[in-house]
Amino acid sequence: MSRVILVSNRLPVTIRRSRGSEQTLDMSAGGLVTGLAPLHAKSNGVWIGHPGENPNAKTLEELEKRRLVPVDVPTREYRSYYEGYSNTALWPLFHYFVERGEFDPAQFEAYRSVNERFADKVASIAEPDDLIWVHDYQLMLLPEMLRQRVPSARIGFFLHIPFPSSETFRVLPQRTQILRGLLGADLIGVHTYEYAENLQRSFRRLLGIETVRGALRYSGRSVRIQSHPIGIDTDEMRAAAFSKKADHELVELKRRIGDRQVVLGIDRLDYTKGLPLKLMAWRRLLSGSQRWRRGAMLIQLAVPSRENIDSYSQQKDEVERLVGEINGLYGSPGRVPIHYMYQTVSREELGALYRLADVAFVSPLRDGLNLVAKEYVACRDDGGGVLALSEFAGAVSELGESLRLNPWDIEGTAAQIERALEMDFGERQERMRPMYHRVVQNDVHRWVERFMSALTEAEVEELQVPPQLQSQVLAGTLGPQLATAGKALLMLDYDGSLREFTERYEDAEPTPEILEILTSLGELDGVRTYINSGRDRNTLGEWFSGAPVSLIAEHGSWIREAGDAKWTRMGPPPDLRWKESVRPVLTEYSERTPGARIEEKSSALVWHYREADDALGEWQALELMSVLEDMLSGSPVEILSGARIIEIRQQGVDKGRAFEHVNELLGPFDFILVTGDDRTDEDIFARLPDDAYSVKVGGGQSSARAAVGSPGSIRRLLRAMIGARRDRTGTGV
Ligand code: UDP
Repeated sequence: MSRVILVSNRLPVTIRRSRGSEQTLDMSAGGLVTGLAPLHAKSNGVWIGHPGENPNAKTLEELEKRRLVPVDVPTREYRSYYEGYSNTALWPLFHYFVERGEFDPAQFEAYRSVNERFADKVASIAEPDDLIWVHDYQLMLLPEMLRQRVPSARIGFFLHIPFPSSETFRVLPQRTQILRGLLGADLIGVHTYEYAENLQRSFRRLLGIETVRGALRYSGRSVRIQSHPIGIDTDEMRAAAFSKKADHELVELKRRIGDRQVVLGIDRLDYTKGLPLKLMAWRRLLSGSQRWRRGAMLIQLAVPSRENIDSYSQQKDEVERLVGEINGLYGSPGRVPIHYMYQTVSREELGALYRLADVAFVSPLRDGLNLVAKEYVACRDDGGGVLALSEFAGAVSELGESLRLNPWDIEGTAAQIERALEMDFGERQERMRPMYHRVVQNDVHRWVERFMSALTEAEVEELQVPPQLQSQVLAGTLGPQLATAGKALLMLDYDGSLREFTERYEDAEPTPEILEILTSLGELDGVRTYINSGRDRNTLGEWFSGAPVSLIAEHGSWIREAGDAKWTRMGPPPDLRWKESVRPVLTEYSERTPGARIEEKSSALVWHYREADDALGEWQALELMSVLEDMLSGSPVEILSGARIIEIRQQGVDKGRAFEHVNELLGPFDFILVTGDDRTDEDIFARLPDDAYSVKVGGGQSSARAAVGSPGSIRRLLRAMIGARRDRTGTGV
């Protein structure tokens, strides 16, 4: 096993001052630490992070023994990085609290500088084949900094908070730096599919980098984005919850509470947890019901958090005011409707509360995942409790049997809590059982395994960049092959491959040189030539009326053999209802983007922006892509971005299928050459037999076997190949 270097903002220990300058070292509690500890132990690696307190000489020795490496950061800089940029810019924005975000350039500078300190520390320790796993939002610039310092390292990054929609993320003034920072990683992990989608969309909209099935190509490497929801340490949680101490605690709590049902809230006192709205929903429930004023109570534990930040202390005041108000309104001697605690409790006490609670009331306004929900489920194999869970918590995607809450809807939330209180034991069990099994099976150790095996997996093959070759070099290989082949197939893309793009796409008619090449190809015995284009059939028919070539139009929708007058449709007639909703959107974007135009094809609509201003066109295209993706998800269409076009087309037709049709009908061929320049041509490249040749025009990732610089190179290649074949048949120059 490779050595693993773990990097997180804080080391997994707390340094406490005891007497005078004496210090003690405690391992921190929590799922992440227990999950990563075995990996740390097994891989014989190191864990790098900030120690919290300045370690004295003895503590330093102790840290070294445990292979924990402290990063030294001056106190003021640390505050500006942690309480500053991390927690007043990134934290609120990533949780959709845009108006709470403060984006102070000086704090970003501190953030950058601390990330730099971490990078230096990691680089001073890392060996070329180490695996480096960086954790969370405080260190988002680190992957790129590490990539520069240790280029060959395998770097994983995991984000433990949500990644917001690209619309929210783009508010961040340092958005491109942050995205580029992440791109230093080989694997970026997030908790949910939605966060992965959001991140991919930000790469596309803000950097113009396309992802293909969760992977993208950047600086010659592939970067994968995957969702891996974290689990809890079920064994640890259950051991605490079913300990002797927890048993006693439970008996004592039950004695004091009597026959009232218990609704439980456990939240760090953070504005993202939505405590005021939760209390308002509780007030709403009590205001309408004598029954629950007597029959239920809310135990709310608010865990102190980030008390140095103003917005946190304001939140505390508001929560305590509401608790006082509700207890004042609905309490009676010896009986309060809310039992509020502002403290941390032991794992055993926490476990006893989970076992006691009839309902867990988990209602964050946004939460990367929410471990409390999973811990509650892990303690309820009796099947007795009800989990009421906010739809804005990442955990909801795995805990579908919970009662879903929209915490902003106070009435609706109150009604759901009432429903939970009234739920019979049978339904409680039916909902809880499957969640329990899921939580136990997918614990934090499985999460670590999954992430690590994804990180060590081989690169995704399809993201290769083919070598750029001179046309003479290619002709040296392909000429003799064509010369000796019995039956040969040439399938040529037109725009951007055989012919240079023109300012207006209607103006790209074939030049005399192209027609001459096609005529020469048509004269070669045993060689079948197709133009396989995305253009509409009328234009192709007109332009190539005199040329002895077969034509495939509209990305494989229509075919016309050389010499025929009639076009034949390939595949079933398309369902084109989607065009009605897409056309107005394209029109709107054309109106907003001078120079952009719409092309109507029989089974596709195309938005062309070659004539638009470069930057504006690119910007509008990225936005349009994202609008169309939202609008058309689930429709039978594909959205393709080509060379300054966006094409929305019927699913199931593509150039690759057209190739297969020809190959089946007329093949097998002894020699196949396919050329192309954009995404639509990849559909053929990917489906070619192993011995076929494919040449892409232009740079970038592709599954073509080789690449050339321009359509001119393709024409030179074809001329040379024609020459070689003629020489063989004795008709050469
Ligand atoms: N927790 C704790 N002490 C307490 C109350 C809660 O350690 O007194 C733990 C709880 O068990 C859970 C974590 O704090 O593991 C809270 O995690 P969650 O994902 O719910 O929210 P976060 O605080 O990470 O936003």
